[in-house]
Amino acid sequence: MGKPVKRPEQSLSERAFLPEVAKGLTLTASRFFKNTFSSAEKGDIATVRYPEEQREYPERFRGVHRLTQRDDGSPRCVACLCCSTACPAQCIHIEPAEYGEGDPRQGYEKFPKVFVIDELRCIFCGMCVEACPCDAIRMDTGMHMPPALERDAFLLDKELLLSLPAADGSVKSANPRHEPGDKTHPGIDRDRSGH
Ligand code: SF4
Ligand code: SF4
Repeated sequence: MGKPVKRPEQSLSERAFLPEVAKGLTLTASRFFKNTFSSAEKGDIATVRYPEEQREYPERFRGVHRLTQRDDGSPRCVACLCCSTACPAQCIHIEPAEYGEGDPRQGYEKFPKVFVIDELRCIFCGMCVEACPCDAIRMDTGMHMPPALERDAFLLDKELLLSLPAADGSVKSANPRHEPGDKTHPGIDRDRSGH
């Protein structure tokens, strides 16, 4: 059997309803005028009038992706597929290809002939950035994906991803890279590979 719950006592004004309705409307109106004529910059209110007002993103904000460039402008990406494998949303599509004849990178590493990220499916977890062994993909653009009416606008291809700069304007990575053929390259070279 249920335990009886005593009804709370109501005052005369609560039982009359109208004074309580007036109190509620007064509170709502005071909040409305405060929010309308205040600004988040002054610290008066917690909300911002987006998009006219925008909060500054934190330094480690994960924004729209970019592909980092080498000195010659080619992608640092070696099409290893680590990022697309790690991606829980499966929104990265890569088609690897071999470098052409005469390119010192031929036989060492590949490049992405096609590299597409579907930003609409992306959950901005950053796993792709963590998984990349070459620092070839970053989310340091400081931008969020702008709204669009067409789904295709959210499919960012290799050329676009390579062209997007970091928030500091750089299109490269801060990490050094040793290219195949360089004296500083720590891996095997073509001459020693046969021994
Ligand atoms: S941020 Fe996460 S969901 Fe988005 S592409 Fe990278 S791994 Fe996939
Ligand atoms: S972005 Fe990095 S992890 Fe993804 S395929 Fe290129 S090198 Fe591999």
